[in-house]
Amino acid sequence: MTELICIICPNGCRLTVKGNGLKVEGAKCARGKEFARIEIEDPRRVLCTTVKTVFSTHPYLSVRTSKEIPKDKLMQVMKEIKNFRLERKVGIGEAVIENLLGTGADLIATEEFIEKEVL
Ligand code: SF4
Repeated sequence: MTELICIICPNGCRLTVKGNGLKVEGAKCARGKEFARIEIEDPRRVLCTTVKTVFSTHPYLSVRTSKEIPKDKLMQVMKEIKNFRLERKVGIGEAVIENLLGTGADLIATEEFIEKEVL
């Protein structure tokens, strides 16, 4: 038996998953049952974070993965991002790293690259 909290909507239903047949209890709608199935078989998340840049006027840039990536790769991906330095200016939605560690997801910018004045 596995207990989960559905994160699809703000209701946050408490789900109980029993057996290999994935009998799901506690879901108020079908989306919760699908969430439980994916969470058990192939859990994935969109990763939101920042990358370091080489520009002193904009030392960090907000980024996220272009789609969900396997949850068990998150630590490996974070290590890759931690060692990365952005050396060019990018616009919102532009790929900073393509096909991040072979996940099929790009790491994309979520903010405009604006030169900030150093005070
Ligand atoms: S099971 Fe349905 S109602 Fe409950 S949190 Fe998930 S999406 Fe929302």
